[in-house]
Amino acid sequence: MSEDFYEVLGVSRDADADEIKQSYRKKAAEYHPDVSDDPNAEEKFKQVKKAKEVLTDEDARAAYDRMGHEQFEQAEKRGFDASENGQDPFGGMGGMGGGQGSPFDDIFEQFFGGGRGRGQQGPRPGRDLQTGLTIDLEDAYFGTARQMTVTRPERCDDCGGHGHPEDAEARTCPGCEGRGQQVRVQQTPLGRVQQTTTCPQCEGEGELYSETCDSCDGEGVVMEESTLTVEVPEGIRDGQTLRMDGEGAPGEPGARDGDLLVEIAVEADERFERDGDDLHITHPISFPQAVFGDDLRVETLDGTVSLDLPRGTQSGETFRLRGKGMPRLQRRGQGDLFVRVQVVTPENVNEEQRDALEAFAEAGGEDIDVKEGFFEKIKRSL
Ligand SMILES: [Zn+2]
Ligand SMILES: [Zn+2]
Repeated sequence: MSEDFYEVLGVSRDADADEIKQSYRKKAAEYHPDVSDDPNAEEKFKQVKKAKEVLTDEDARAAYDRMGHEQFEQAEKRGFDASENGQDPFGGMGGMGGGQGSPFDDIFEQFFGGGRGRGQQGPRPGRDLQTGLTIDLEDAYFGTARQMTVTRPERCDDCGGHGHPEDAEARTCPGCEGRGQQVRVQQTPLGRVQQTTTCPQCEGEGELYSETCDSCDGEGVVMEESTLTVEVPEGIRDGQTLRMDGEGAPGEPGARDGDLLVEIAVEADERFERDGDDLHITHPISFPQAVFGDDLRVETLDGTVSLDLPRGTQSGETFRLRGKGMPRLQRRGQGDLFVRVQVVTPENVNEEQRDALEAFAEAGGEDIDVKEGFFEKIKRSL
């Protein structure tokens, strides 16, 4: 497989660019998979193209001559690997990594912008797309199924995602000689390093077609609005992301589709404060209830439950109702409900209540300098 490029093209080591190109054309015609009977035609065709590409690039050829065939290939491979893993220290276009950007990326930008090098592994898988969904606490408690309308890229039906009509004629892209990538050799402090970028002319296809698909302008995808049902499981928390398999951008024909990532926002609730799977609520009680105790009915997200309020409860005391909080996501059980009772002081009392309270104070030996209330003032002025 790995043969010396000069031998592949059948030229001498000091052949000039014209000689190389001439020889390339001959060999390419000979091994073109469409015309050649050679069972290894495709592989040979690729080798010929590769050899020509390297030897007609002044920098690449110099590196090749210096390193020799094997070392050059290894260096190149490392270069590809780096860009595929997004670790290319030299900031090549190929370093975007796969799909998962920040959750704030625009859904369109994710699809159309940037771009991952095609690598040499065939059709590109579809990108993951991201969107958001806001629900209230009750939906988070019971779980919910929500219809959501998303505008997203879909595979173009008219061309099956190929971007060109089936009968369009293909020719090898001149920008990358069919490789889909352009190789650049750069001098860096670490030595010569190869960078690969997706060929802008063919966008990594390696081929150009006589016609492009009218429906999708050759993109292979069209933007379409579609309605999806998002199943939100009970117990989901604010900021968690649901992954909908295969609902992202379509992959190139033969590759897998991306996923749709739905980030869930759970709105704050007026009554309940959430702390993980626990809930907190403040429940008003009267002074007599605080003194005598009572059987309280406390609100939960799923009806009311009883709370056995003991005698002599202080305002601000907190009671824990086990298992009355949020359902635990994908686990059994529920968190707890913490009920903080608050003694509510009446702002106005009627005469009967006032007399009773005065008697209460007196019986306790309290000497209160009672402030005049609204009614007292009116009475006195009569
Ligand atoms: Zn199309
Ligand atoms: Zn190209």
